[in-house]
Amino acid sequence: QRYDLAALRARLDGIRLEDNPALVRQKSRDFYWYSPILKRQLDPAVADIVAHPTSQDEVIRILSACAALAIPVTPRGAGTGNYGQAMPLAGGVVLDLSGMNHVLDIGPGHVVAQAGAILAEIDAATRKAVGRELRLHPSTYRTASIGGFIAGGSGGVGSIMWGGLRDLGNILGLTVVTMEAAPRVLRLTGEEVGKVAHAYGTNGIITEVTMPLAPAHDWVEAIIGFDDFAEACAYANALGEQDALVKKLVSVVAAPVPQRYFLRHKPFLPEGKHVVLVMVDALAIDAFAAFTARHGGEALFRSDLVPAARQAGLPPLYELAWNHTTLRALRVDPAVTYLQTLYPFPHQLDLVARIHARLGTEVPAHLEFVRFDGKITCFGLPLVHFTGEERLDEIIAIHEEMGAVVFNPHRYTLEEGGMKQTDAVQLAFKREADPAGLLNPGKMIGWENPEFDLASGRTYLFQGLG
Ligand code: FAD
Repeated sequence: QRYDLAALRARLDGIRLEDNPALVRQKSRDFYWYSPILKRQLDPAVADIVAHPTSQDEVIRILSACAALAIPVTPRGAGTGNYGQAMPLAGGVVLDLSGMNHVLDIGPGHVVAQAGAILAEIDAATRKAVGRELRLHPSTYRTASIGGFIAGGSGGVGSIMWGGLRDLGNILGLTVVTMEAAPRVLRLTGEEVGKVAHAYGTNGIITEVTMPLAPAHDWVEAIIGFDDFAEACAYANALGEQDALVKKLVSVVAAPVPQRYFLRHKPFLPEGKHVVLVMVDALAIDAFAAFTARHGGEALFRSDLVPAARQAGLPPLYELAWNHTTLRALRVDPAVTYLQTLYPFPHQLDLVARIHARLGTEVPAHLEFVRFDGKITCFGLPLVHFTGEERLDEIIAIHEEMGAVVFNPHRYTLEEGGMKQTDAVQLAFKREADPAGLLNPGKMIGWENPEFDLASGRTYLFQGLG
């Protein structure tokens, strides 16, 4: 055995530990299989044991014991991450935070919750108490934890109004436990939040979060159809810019993706239509309809008009968007994978059109409109008909040559995925909070191998894997 699990058990008397191999394996997985490359690389990764804390005190006991015994710890919320983020590359303990799921405090404009609380459950509590909800959430709203979203996510439904999760003000405060023989409990606010937000749990365990709330509108779901892809994009961009039309989602999905993969919504999706998925405030619905008419959009579906009986069994609209678009495609066609791109302001529409003209059949477009530093632009989660790793690299290179930014979802490290370079603040915080490098090993190249040349084009492979 790699680690002294008997000593660990002795120290953790009273805390639920799981070593049933099938269950441990299950808790050692996330949605890494979206990527055929990560699937090949990460399949062997498995923990030795899963620990289920129910309080911050138990987290402290677990981290203290693991620090003393030099056992790696990989935190896990709900395991819906896409890049093997929650997979224990060096084995050891998976720290399953799903038992720490309480909403602790709700104020007029904020909520305090334990890290394992499920996003939809937080909203149910805040809506009931103060008529407000989280500003933004991933499309995994019904399953993902708030701690996992902060440590692993980036934005989602709500980003059209509120920007990205890491934008200052979208996370008010975090309580973090350090990985030391005598773990410390730190409270991070303001600039300090960036130390652990989107750090994959490599430098501290988030136990409590304080999040700002937005008004909970009555959201109407609409699917707007266009015959022309460029017109759908122009409409989506212009809708994003209409601040008086309060919305939570503006996504563009090019034909034939909706018709092929949005199976339950199929009766509402005529062949050939490019669609824009919108969640808009019910109070603004007539104004929204007028705006849509101005752009020549055709309402294919509106949740306020379609009889309830015809809506039975439909997933919420946001579960056709963000990375759920990819999931729906994968369910029908396992040979599909995807990319993550950004089309920088102010040339986003031109860039989207040019890339679509060049690659549209092999890489069908899927755009998520967002507010980015105050400007409306779009991210892409285009589908890719996968024909091999070499071709995937070529497709990425074409995107970059043409001016798109690619956040490669086929890499498991922070640097090669979204961040592009080592976040110096996160690395410095890791030195302080995890001096032995036991938290989620293999995910921060700047820690594992500071000499690694990120510009070399080579893929980083963690030596301890398997
Ligand atoms: P996990 O997968 O359990 O963990 C994510 C990362 O955070 C891991 O590195 C883990 O080690 C770390 N972590 C978890 N809890 C803690 C903690 N308490 N302290 C420290 N580190 C911790 N992401 C988006 O941003 N937007 C989207 O719209 C979106 N849509 C998705 C759709 C689908 C269908 C899928 C499969 C994924 C999607 N994702 C999206 C990715 C993922 O769902 C989100 O990042 C989600 O918020 C992760 O939450 P989780 O609880 O499942 O985290």
